[in-house]
This record gives sequence, structure tokens and C-alpha cells, in this order.
Amino acid sequence: MRKFIVGNWKMNGMSADLGEIAAISAVAQLYTSVDSALCIPATLIDRAVKAVGDFPIGGQDCHMQNSGAHTGCVSSEMLSDAGAVLTIIGHSERRAAQHEQDSDIRAKAEAASAAGLKVIVCVGETLEERDAGKALDVVLGQLKLSLPDTVAGAWLSVAYEPVWAIGTGRVAEPADVEEMHGAIRAALKERFGEECGAIHILYGGSMNGDNAAELLAVPNVDGGLIGGASLTAAKFKPILAAAQATSE
Ligand code: PEP
Repeated sequence: MRKFIVGNWKMNGMSADLGEIAAISAVAQLYTSVDSALCIPATLIDRAVKAVGDFPIGGQDCHMQNSGAHTGCVSSEMLSDAGAVLTIIGHSERRAAQHEQDSDIRAKAEAASAAGLKVIVCVGETLEERDAGKALDVVLGQLKLSLPDTVAGAWLSVAYEPVWAIGTGRVAEPADVEEMHGAIRAALKERFGEECGAIHILYGGSMNGDNAAELLAVPNVDGGLIGGASLTAAKFKPILAAAQATSE
């Protein structure tokens, strides 16, 4: 499977950073065996899309409704209207800080898909849950409740992001990543059938140029969701190179 490498800028990015977004898109387009994208603040999407041509630009969330009395929220149709072609749903930072539940994430995924966006649904356990031996149960439970009943087509990716590895510099052990990604793949096949072999399962959590080659070589790791190391073309480039080396 072609690897899928997605940058997540989180709440970073001003007008002055549009040049860096253009630099990232230019670098990404050198790696022709890799699919890549950059998810940025909604305020920059329209201008970024104009700056990067065909390179996919995404949002980092969306509301489950298309419009209405939801002060401060952005709908999937608005993201699409601004030129976004994908969005991240259920990132652990939103699950924790915005108290998003699996049912919210499922509704958002349905709305985003209906608006024609590709969707990356995030799942992942906390350190307490892993230490208590509950990582598999937690992640498979999130997966079951966060995904819509119909996931046919290439619109969906799943990102496994252990919460304790996000932004911490601490990376999951390849053996643990292999176990989790294998379990996610098996759960997808059991629920949705063989066609779900085409769903990208991304690893996220302190992936960078030093560890990407090892992580991307793990079975069922079909790409990465990258925070800090996606903020500059210089940091993103070695991850794309590692992905190119392991893309099929
Ligand atoms: C993320 O934002 O999803 C992420 C994995 O962040 P970082 O790469 O900085 O850990």
C-alpha cells in the first residue's frame, strides 16, 4: 500500500507561515510514491489551497451539523467550501480538552464523509490505560463506537495515537505498535469485510526523521500522523523519504 503521511499543525500557523506550507507541499510532491497532506488551522485553509495547487490541505475537526447556532464551530461543508479535502476527527487533544465522545466523533465522521472529505479518525489509550493492560480494549472500543456503520471506499483512515506519545518525544515500541495495528486491521476486517484492507492505519506520536523508518516498516503501519515534525519542510522531509522507501 502507498504510505500516507499527514501533518497536523494543531493551533499553529499565521499568515507569515504560508511560505512554509508552500515549501512543505513542494517537498512532498518530490516523493511520488507517497500520499501526503497537511491539516492546518481553518483560518489558513483558503489561502493555503491557493498557494499549493493540488497538494491536499485539510482541517483538524468539524462540527457534525452543516450549519446553525453553533458559535465558534466550523462545519465539514465549510471546510470543503474553503478548499479542504480532508479533516482529522477525534484527536486525543479534542477528546480530552473538548470532551468529545465516541458518538460525537462518529457523527462528525459521517458529516465529513457526506461533505466529500477524507477523514482521519484518531484512537489511542492513555498511559494509565496502557499500564493497566487495557490498551487494546480501550482502542478497539473507541474504534467500534467512533466509526460509522458504512466505511466502504477510500475516504477513511484510522490513526492510532497513544496519548502518552503525542508531543512528548516518547515513541511507542515497534512491537506494541505492531500488536495494536494488527488488532485494528483485524477489527476492521471483522466488522466491514475484506475491502477494509485498503484503509490506511496511521501511527501518530512523536514520529520524526530519526524514528520514521523503523515505525513505517512495522506491519500494518500504512503511514503517519505527524505533529511537531510537520511544522517545517526540513523536519517533514526525512519522514517523507522514509515513507517513500517503505511504500509499495
Ligand atoms: C499529533 O498531533 O497527532 C501528533 C502525533 O503530534 P506529535 O507528532 O507532535 O507527537
